[in-house]
Amino acid sequence: MTESTSAQQAQHILQHTYGYQQFRHQQREIITHLIDGGDAMVLMPTGGGKSLCYQIPALAREGMGIVISPLIALMQDQVSALQQLGISAGFWNSTLTETERADIKYQINRNQLDILYIAPEGLMLPYMLNWLAQRRISLIAIDEAHCVSQWGHDFRQDYLLLHQLTEHFPSVPRVALTATANKQTKDDIIQRLNLQQPRQFVQSFDRPNIRYWVETKTDAKKQLIKFLSNYREDSGIVYCLSRKKVESTATWLCSRGLTALPYHAGLSSEQRAEHQARFLREESIIIVATIAFGMGIDKPDVRFVCHLDLPKSMEAYYQETGRAGRDGEAANVWMAYGLQDVVQLSQMIENSQGDEGFKRHEKQKLDALLGWCEITQCRRQALLRYFDEDYPEPCGNCDICLNPPKTWNATTEAQKLLSCIYRTGQRFGVAHVIDVLRGKETDKVKQFNHQALSTYGIGESIPEQRWRSITRQLMVNGFIYANNQHYGAITLTEKARPLLRGELELQLREDDSSHKPSLSKKPKFTGQSVSEEDRKLWDLLRQCRRDLADEHRVPPYVIFHDATLMEMMEYKPTKAHELLSLNGVGETKMERYGDAFVEVIDEFLSV
Ligand code: ADP
Ligand code: ZN
Repeated sequence: MTESTSAQQAQHILQHTYGYQQFRHQQREIITHLIDGGDAMVLMPTGGGKSLCYQIPALAREGMGIVISPLIALMQDQVSALQQLGISAGFWNSTLTETERADIKYQINRNQLDILYIAPEGLMLPYMLNWLAQRRISLIAIDEAHCVSQWGHDFRQDYLLLHQLTEHFPSVPRVALTATANKQTKDDIIQRLNLQQPRQFVQSFDRPNIRYWVETKTDAKKQLIKFLSNYREDSGIVYCLSRKKVESTATWLCSRGLTALPYHAGLSSEQRAEHQARFLREESIIIVATIAFGMGIDKPDVRFVCHLDLPKSMEAYYQETGRAGRDGEAANVWMAYGLQDVVQLSQMIENSQGDEGFKRHEKQKLDALLGWCEITQCRRQALLRYFDEDYPEPCGNCDICLNPPKTWNATTEAQKLLSCIYRTGQRFGVAHVIDVLRGKETDKVKQFNHQALSTYGIGESIPEQRWRSITRQLMVNGFIYANNQHYGAITLTEKARPLLRGELELQLREDDSSHKPSLSKKPKFTGQSVSEEDRKLWDLLRQCRRDLADEHRVPPYVIFHDATLMEMMEYKPTKAHELLSLNGVGETKMERYGDAFVEVIDEFLSV
């Protein structure tokens, strides 16, 4: 097949089946390379459009495409979404009943299936391999390919068996895809999967539609509510560290009139499944979760992700925030953090099981994250730099770019704090040290006779909140640490010495939580700034989508994305076939749903 005919074929499927006008980034190159029979390794961020990269070649080539994925819970939704496009797809995993299994078998044996989703443990059974090797297979896609690497964070034993696919399907092109891999992991994946001279496609890991926003904690709940008040119609995730906090936050949000559902490992699996299902199928649901939530959430219209506690590392942060805005529309991620988080996480690492090497490694990861929280330059640049990627200019879409923090010369104040820690014997926590600085006559101060110290009261004019900010920044910058051997007592490090001696000048950032996060512009019609009339049509279109979704038992976004509804508002088509020119309307969807939406628009226009 010549390059140009595979490209034409790809373009045809893109337009007629998916209803999209153009390929994104390297999709076209990846797809034509696979149609022409080559192997490929694809690194693309979440929301980059990986699915099309294997679905289109699977459809273009003769035979059935096999998609290997560890995410069993997701297969049903992925398959329903394909079926909505008129593609004959099925899945094979342990959740199938005997009848369903027989049905899929029947379809495969009659070459009626275009795409089969399967978990690795199911595929690698000898009888399965033998059976499928006799069928005509168009392509094998290995999704979440980082699971094969021990360097990655989701290693799965079953993935190791996948290198055998080379023998069983020698002439079938294979593509490995992942959204989480550095160079080391990528090379590891290629080797372990035994890909044959794969062409490598590495896309920037930037998520341009995500706005990063970090705030210092003053009153976390109040700050959160203020942030959430911008989202009346949308869904999102709030992450907390502990189950207890998940529960209390969810309860509190509900008491403020929001629909918030808890999700953590302490809930029964039925409850978890129910909350997840509601998140996928309903609109304006907030999931409050520990990190147990997220892997395998494919919802494209998550509009916000909040962190009420610090994530574990930059990697975790990137991954958790990455669940926002898969559909490419504007999304906001927001984090509040404070001194307490810094102390708590450092102690969690200290107290964790594991040898010194492990702890050092974890500590380094935490330090990288804390440093990122405190930076005074573009967050996106720093985030991407952490993943070895160069982003040339400040992004203009993060809190630092939009609201540059002020810095101030904190040398004298830092010296006061350090000497107070020293004078009190490096035996106390933050609260007491600040009490001494501010000259407070607490019981503890009297008990240790700290009012007699030369540092007593030397920081009286500075509010407690500011002292906490200074302490936090000194900690993050490595001048002091919470000593675990002494119940978290604040202790000086070697680095404190030159600062105390006045050999060093220290600039700190001014914490400013008084400004509201400026939110990335939301889609034109979901915000409050819509004219009364447009608002009515928007609601009608959404209602129509909801009804169809219920009827077909799929999430609303599987019927049409918001972006497609917005185009309907803009162009107000009154004939079903006119819908074909809208992004996201392919032939099958036009036939199935065109009349319903056109009717809504017609009725709206006629009143
Ligand atoms: P990933 O698996 O990389 O996270 P998906 O394959 O789920 O991303 O794609 C993210 C969203 O972008 C999906 O809703 C998909 O339909 C949409 N999409 C992908 N490619 C295109 C394209 N070329 N044009 C328009 N939308 C696209
Ligand atoms: Zn920026």
